[in-house]
Amino acid sequence: MSRNLDILAEEDQNRNAAARIKYFDLVVQSGSGATVTDADGKTYIDLLASASAINFGHCHPKVVQAIKDQAEELILYTPAYFANTTTAKLLERLSQLTPGNFDKKVALGNSGSDANEAMIKFSRAYTGRPNVVTFTGAMHGSTYAASIASAISLNQVRKIGPLMPGFYKAPFPDSHDRLQGENEHDFSLRKFAEFKQLFESYLPADETALVLIEPIQGDGGIVKAPQEYLDLVYQYTRENGIVFAVDEVNQGLGRSGTLWSIDHFGIVPDLLAIGKSIASGLPLSAVVGKAEIMDALPAPGHLFTTGGNPVAAAAALAGLDVLKEEDLVGRSMRLGLRVQEYFDQAQKRYTCLGDVRIYGLDGGIDIVDQDGQPDAQLASQIIFRLFELGVVMITLRGFILRFQPPLVITDEQLDQVFAIFDQVFTEADNGTLKPLPKDRAIGW
Ligand code: PMP
Repeated sequence: MSRNLDILAEEDQNRNAAARIKYFDLVVQSGSGATVTDADGKTYIDLLASASAINFGHCHPKVVQAIKDQAEELILYTPAYFANTTTAKLLERLSQLTPGNFDKKVALGNSGSDANEAMIKFSRAYTGRPNVVTFTGAMHGSTYAASIASAISLNQVRKIGPLMPGFYKAPFPDSHDRLQGENEHDFSLRKFAEFKQLFESYLPADETALVLIEPIQGDGGIVKAPQEYLDLVYQYTRENGIVFAVDEVNQGLGRSGTLWSIDHFGIVPDLLAIGKSIASGLPLSAVVGKAEIMDALPAPGHLFTTGGNPVAAAAALAGLDVLKEEDLVGRSMRLGLRVQEYFDQAQKRYTCLGDVRIYGLDGGIDIVDQDGQPDAQLASQIIFRLFELGVVMITLRGFILRFQPPLVITDEQLDQVFAIFDQVFTEADNGTLKPLPKDRAIGW
């Protein structure tokens, strides 16, 4: 009898529907580096890194030690009212870690969602304006305003109305929307015209507080905005007194081969949100940005009982040491080039592979049918087969394979992954993959 199945059956009975997207039957018992082991003792190479929340590796010994040491000394003493040395160190470290030579402040929270909520509050308080612009395809979180600011959960958002007013979406310049023969320059101009149209038709720029963007959309399919487009949008915010904020919750901390995804563009944002990997799996988030914007909201406008608690802060400080000592940003870039090389070849060999976007150890791999159209059914069959062969991977938007391993993945592990990919893409092309189990939906 499988322990995995017993535990899953128990979980299924108790967990709410909104918090579960059902893929294959995996119960994770332990993790180490770039692998996880299930309740029956089978080990998998992890290409999900807990949705990019484990960049520094599972249970990194330095992080684990820092958590133990801090937990023995102090777990929490209301950071909102009193200081502690570990949290104070983290505030300083984070303020040095983000772009911008201006006076900075740091706000600590517990999740990526609350970091984005904070940026909405700060920019409304600073500008005295109501409106917030985010993008189609965006994922900013699951709290109320963050859900509304996102596009991913739009269908679910409709069920939770009435929604907060003041939220608008501009079309993200998603490469899938490029017209036949349209070059990047023309595409950027067309999408920027659509962005401007939003303001010219019904959203006065001088009533807009914030433009919030993922420069590389994560859950939206690993899709990077063109440089020219983002330059134009940034310029527009400068001309119109609008706060420009980036959500680095998914793409930050080395994921895309640079420390922050906005570093690809050479743009310095007013506010930057950090989450997921920062505390190697403990709840912690941060907003780092211009002091004048962040201090526009007085106390107690945004604070959390456990936000920035010393244990999570200790994990973050140790994780940031690991990032530096193991040069994980450089590693992400170097290994990303290997992944790119693999797919350059693989695209010539396998018809199931469509567009492939690789930035560091961050990849979106489109799975297509014989006619080159997105094929969510086939993508799901592929991830189920990968799972059988010892690789954990999930899909985005149904048809996109999400490639986001811990940045500590080794060259040997990557070689293993490439060999397993070859096997599964061959089976996909030959039509020999098993159909999906009946009770499984195609991934979102
Ligand atoms: N922003 C982005 C870009 C994300 O990908 C996510 C989570 N997928 C969030 C925010 C929300 O983070 P959390 O789940 O920690 O609230």
